[in-house]
Amino acid sequence: MNQFILPYCPKYHQLQWKSKKIQSCLICLKAKKLSQYYCTECKQGVCNECIKPPLDGFYCGGNHKMQFMSNLPHHSCDLCEKSISQAYSCRTCDFDICENCIQFDE
Ligand SMILES: [Zn+2]
Ligand SMILES: [Zn+2]
Ligand SMILES: [Zn+2]
Ligand SMILES: [Zn+2]
Repeated sequence: MNQFILPYCPKYHQLQWKSKKIQSCLICLKAKKLSQYYCTECKQGVCNECIKPPLDGFYCGGNHKMQFMSNLPHHSCDLCEKSISQAYSCRTCDFDICENCIQFDE
């Protein structure tokens, strides 16, 4: 089974899995970053560089099974932000990770 642990914000609130473009990151304070983890109490997110989303291609951070999609027009990778046409993807969360960013342990 996949271990499903949500990370915490710097003030120890539990973060929610949520795809969002944030104004500034709670940790590094950089502006306009892609974020997957959002703190509803601080009303701010943590960017994908400070807390990496799961990148094994099996489950998204919302614990949905991800699928390899070979036809994904007009999408971009949620980690490297490159435009992509195929990716490991959770359509429920609109979370897409390209083949360059995916990490399989082997
Ligand atoms: Zn950050
Ligand atoms: Zn918080
Ligand atoms: Zn990527
Ligand atoms: Zn999902």
